[in-house]
Amino acid sequence: MKKKTWSRSNLTFVCGYCIMCKRQLLSNEGGWIINAEKKRFCEHYGENTESCFDKYINIRRENVRKEI
Ligand SMILES: [Zn+2]
Repeated sequence: MKKKTWSRSNLTFVCGYCIMCKRQLLSNEGGWIINAEKKRFCEHYGENTESCFDKYINIRRENVRKEI
C-alpha cells in the first residue's frame, strides 16, 4: 500500500494580501503578482478587466503627473 502523501490542498498557505482590495492571495492560486517593492496585487492575465495591479500603476502615474 502506498503511503498517503500530502494532498495539494494541505500545501495551501496565504502568501499575503493584495494591497489594493485586501484579498487573500493563496500559494496554490494564480492571478496575483509581487512587484519589486514587495507589494502584492491581483493580476488577471489575458483578461481585459482592470486588475488591482493596473489600478496601482495608474495611481502611480497620476501622482507622478501631479509632482511635475
Ligand atoms: Zn486586489
